Amino acid sequence: IAPKGPFETGFYSPDYDIYSESRLTLMSDLRDALQQNQTQLYYQPKVCLATGNIIGLEALIRWHHSERGWVHPSDFIPLAEETGVITQLTRWAFERGIGDLAQLLTDYPGLDISINISARDLTSRQLKNLIQDRLAHHKVSAERLTIELTETAAMEDPDKGLEALKALAGIGLGISIDDFGSGYSSLSYLKQLPATEIKLDRSLIIDVGSSKTSKVIIETAINMAHGLGYPVVAEGVEDEETAHLLRDMGCDRLQGYWLCHPLPLPELKQWLSEPRSA
Ligand code: C2E
Ligand code: CA
Ligand code: CA
Ligand code: CA
Repeated sequence: IAPKGPFETGFYSPDYDIYSESRLTLMSDLRDALQQNQTQLYYQPKVCLATGNIIGLEALIRWHHSERGWVHPSDFIPLAEETGVITQLTRWAFERGIGDLAQLLTDYPGLDISINISARDLTSRQLKNLIQDRLAHHKVSAERLTIELTETAAMEDPDKGLEALKALAGIGLGISIDDFGSGYSSLSYLKQLPATEIKLDRSLIIDVGSSKTSKVIIETAINMAHGLGYPVVAEGVEDEETAHLLRDMGCDRLQGYWLCHPLPLPELKQWLSEPRSA
């Protein structure tokens, strides 16, 4: 299924030498785009399978380059991480995301927004201050905001990562462990994390209907997460059959094209206001 939205019609793809001039130019363009607010946040809803309620949104960055067209996040996020531009990207995402959250909360007071961060952001001192400052400015409770990061990112520097996560959880933020099941996992580390949600990677979800192995892995992951006290969200669910399978396997929450594509804020508000049966 081709994703709806900006990536439907081809997009610009840079070459893969990270030091090539085109990639360095891309990074300086990204810096300018962030500064001039030419990037956007799209939001993808997350549904609670027990109630059918929309409980949260994941913020995903979108960048339409003036000459190159849509540039896919997987073509600039890794590069932004390597070059340090991610710091500016993350600041922008929290500033924008918390502002949008404040707007949404007037109509949907129970909603939660998840924002992705990378390993490099986690150990930056300024992040917590920035988040607290923006939450206070918009009078939004920290309980309404969730940080999404991968276990691998937290483990880049396990002690510092854990300390940073505890500090973020300590101010009331939710912590979602992203892409779970896509890399190496350390159960002893996982159980120390102050997580509030485990997010199963799309690579596990993709063939749950046809592969016995995937089914066993997902069941095991769900049981383990529940055993540790974490609710489980499945990402990348594209059809009803998969949604029902996951619900029957005890998965708590679900996100994916089946429910809704990531949408810009005005369209998201429209979508939220429409009646639906989940
Ligand atoms: P992710 O955090 O795993 O995000 C989920 C990706 O799956 C998103 O891709 C989303 O558009 C896509 N997706 C959602 N539902 C479906 C589905 O049903 N089927 C399929 N095939 N895909 C689905 P996107 O937006 O291209 O983002 C790619 C990655 O870039 C994200 O993966 C995340 O790691 C990173 N990223 C995106 N926005 C940000 C951001 O603001 N900050 C940071 N640090 N990283 C970001
Ligand atoms: Ca994510
Ligand atoms: Ca993910
Ligand atoms: Ca993923």
